[in-house]
Amino acid sequence: MRTEMNCSLCGYELTSPACIGCLKKQILAFVKGRASMKEDVEISMSLFKHFNNNNSSCITCKSNVAICSFCVYSEIYRLLKKKNKELAEEFGSLFQCTEEIQDFLDHY
Ligand SMILES: [Zn+2]
Ligand SMILES: [Zn+2]
Repeated sequence: MRTEMNCSLCGYELTSPACIGCLKKQILAFVKGRASMKEDVEISMSLFKHFNNNNSSCITCKSNVAICSFCVYSEIYRLLKKKNKELAEEFGSLFQCTEEIQDFLDHY
């Protein structure tokens, strides 16, 4: 039996689901030491709270997952790019969400 577990934003299958809370921890660890970035990340991440469907559950903590990590990373990538291009590139290659990859997948 196959269950539908797709991202509420992009519709892609949630292959290794991670919840907003766990993703946020990852991203905050990345921007650690950059206080201004931390605040921007917090604001961006809070927008994702509107998506609270229970499409899947987090592989780490079993919380609800409504959107894929790619959508979250892409949003943060765009945010960083506005502020600090170098940091954005670093983030993009680490989390595999650069614009090149986005174009390739035609994700949006
Ligand atoms: Zn989690
Ligand atoms: Zn998605």
